[in-house]
Formats: sequence, structure tokens, C-alpha cells
Amino acid sequence: MTDFDATRALFDLPDGIVYLDGNSLGPLPRAARERVAREVSHAWGTLLIRGWNEAGWMDLPETVGNKIGRLIGAPEGSVVAGDSTSVNLFKALTAALSLSGERKVVLSDSGNFPTDLYVAQQALVALGRGHALKIVAPEEIDGAIDETVAVLMLTEVDYRTGRLHDMTALTAKAHGAGALTVWDLAHSAGALPVDLSGAGADFAIGCGYKYLNGGPGAPAFIYVRPEHADRVSPALAGWMGHAAPFAFDLGYAPAAGVNRMRVGTPPILAMASLDAALDVWDGVSMADVRARSIELSETFIAEVEARCPQLALASPRDPARRGSQVSFVFAEGYAAMQAAIANGVVGDFRAPDIMRFGFTPLYVGLADVVRAAGVLERVMGERLWDRPEFKQKAKVT
Ligand SMILES: *Cc1c(COP(=O)(O)O)cnc(C)c1O
Repeated sequence: MTDFDATRALFDLPDGIVYLDGNSLGPLPRAARERVAREVSHAWGTLLIRGWNEAGWMDLPETVGNKIGRLIGAPEGSVVAGDSTSVNLFKALTAALSLSGERKVVLSDSGNFPTDLYVAQQALVALGRGHALKIVAPEEIDGAIDETVAVLMLTEVDYRTGRLHDMTALTAKAHGAGALTVWDLAHSAGALPVDLSGAGADFAIGCGYKYLNGGPGAPAFIYVRPEHADRVSPALAGWMGHAAPFAFDLGYAPAAGVNRMRVGTPPILAMASLDAALDVWDGVSMADVRARSIELSETFIAEVEARCPQLALASPRDPARRGSQVSFVFAEGYAAMQAAIANGVVGDFRAPDIMRFGFTPLYVGLADVVRAAGVLERVMGERLWDRPEFKQKAKVT
């Protein structure tokens, strides 16, 4: 059994708050704080340029990629860390289309995160091969997979409602229709068991700063199924993805395997933070994380529904169909969330009316969840959300 008291002690959380926003920005692992300080003062400060060879900087995208790979069912050498999730989506989608022949449809759903849809729309324009992005409702995806589809591009867990797609079934269906798959694991990696190999997924990407706790703007990651990795033609071909970066050849020759998906110089301080943050997972079973996350979210839903009749559940009621977050609809959700935050319960808000709460067993326990429901009861019962100071929208909601 995973010792969740022990994992909680690995994080530096401010006193007195219940943090239910680790699905948006994971908190600070103590090891990441120490590692970044050491990387700055020792590696950068004293090794200077030698850090690339002597502090392992050059290999960090692979080292970090392999640590992430263990959490998502990806074999050694099939994941690299770097760039943002948005950029990795561009890399994955264009790589998939480099393998996919003459079909013209990229299929996605209206529950996808907007950046994924924006990146895809413009990538298809830039490719200029006549592809079109087809967006259907999440529940219509299964029926829309047919032999016109080149690539099925989905986010496994809906950022608003937490609805979970069946990656294994949809990947099998896509393959049956002759399509490739690109999965965005932004709300999956570190949140629930993922088995990319078992599902046969072709490409996957995900985020380093949510459930992986790498810090604000932490590097993202990309997975390429090993049997494709030596065949894909990267659209963003940089020197770090070249077969011999320090040969300085004028012509591009891709590195072997997933390393060709690297582009430019990795952000070492951010990469080091993520590297240290991933050690939190040593000795953690993802099955235990999932079981505890369900226990937390089920308790939260029961408590909130008993105490706050004003809030309507926006997430699937069946925990097997949810990721690790729970959302409630409330017309004044922004102000209500601000009032909750002012009272020590931190979640976030997604327009137009979603109050979102993430459940992260590494550092959130049952008592936290019950306390959070109690605060929401006060916010609702005493109409704290109706105060003007909570209605001023900030840039980030
Ligand atoms: C959080 C998230 C992103 C974030 O992309 P960035 O490039 O890091 O800003 C992208 N896609 C999904 C599905 C997300 O949940």
C-alpha cells in the first residue's frame, strides 16, 4: 500500500489551506526546491558550460521522459520531455500526419482543450495538404470514427467536466478503421493509471506542471510508439533532434527514435525541477492513487450535494467515467470560487460557470475534502459569493 502520509510530507504546502487545484498547478515538492537551488548555485554557478556534460543536462529530456514513461505505461526510450503541451501537440499531430497517407480528416471533440484545437487548426493550414479538423460532441466520437479519419486526436480527461474517454476502446476502433491516434494526457499523467503500450496508442503528449508537480510552465512530454519512432518525419526539426547535433551539418538527419522529437536547447532549471518532482512517485502505486482519488471525489460529491443544493454536479456521476477532478455548475461560480479561496479552499473556475476541484492523493486527504465541503456550505449558505470583492475577474481564473 502506498503511504500517503509519507508522500504528503514530501510537499511544501502553505499551512491552513486545502489545495484542490493540483490539476492546474501541482504544489512544490521539497526536493524540487533543493534541486533547483543546487542546479543554480553548483551546476550553473560553478560548472558553467561544463554542466552540459558533467551535470547530465544534455540527457535530462530523456531521463525525465523515462521517469514519466513509467507512470503512463510507456517503455524505456519512448518518451522525451521538453517544450510545452501545445508545442508537443503540434509535433505529435504533424508526425502522425507524416505517416497517415491520403486521408484528410483529423477527428476531435468539443470537450477538447482549446489550445489543442487551435494548434490543430493552424497546423493543418500550415501543412497545406487539404486536411480538415472535424469536431463532434464527446459522446459522438465513437460513431464518427470511420475510414475517412487520418488521425483521432483526443484529450483523455475533459478539462471542464472530468469526463474520461475510453482510450483502449477508442484506439482499437481507430486502428480498425485505419486511423492513427494522438492522446493528450494533460489530466491523466499522474492522475490515473495509463497504459499507452497496452492500449496501442500511437502518439501521446502531456503536461509537466499539473499532476506531475514540475512547477509553473514545467516542460511537457511526448510519446511515440516505438514501432513508429524511426519512421516519423518531424515538422519542427531542430538541432537537438538531429542525429549528430555537434557535427553541425547543414542538412537535417533525424536522431534515432523518439529523440528526433526534441527541438531546441532544453530549459535546464525547469527540467531539473520536474526531474526532482518525479521522484515523489518512487514507491507510489498508481492503482492506489486511483482508488484513493475515487474515495476522495466520491466523499466530496456526497458532502457537497448534502450541504449545497445550489450546486449542480457537472462531472459524470460514475467514478469509472471521471478523471481525478470534480466540477459543479453555479451561475456565480467565479465569485463563489474566489470566496472559497479567501476561506482557505483553493480550486479554480472555468467559463462560463464551472467550479473545478482536483483530487491529488499524494497530498490531499479525506479530512481536507470534508473541510472543503464545509467551506462551500458557508460560501453558499451565507451568500459570500455575492460580495463585490469576489466578482472582480483576474487574468487567470
Ligand atoms: C493544461 C492543458 C494544456 C496546456 O498547454 P500549455 O501548452 O502547457 O499551455 C494543453 N492541453 C490540455 C488538454 C490541457 O489540459
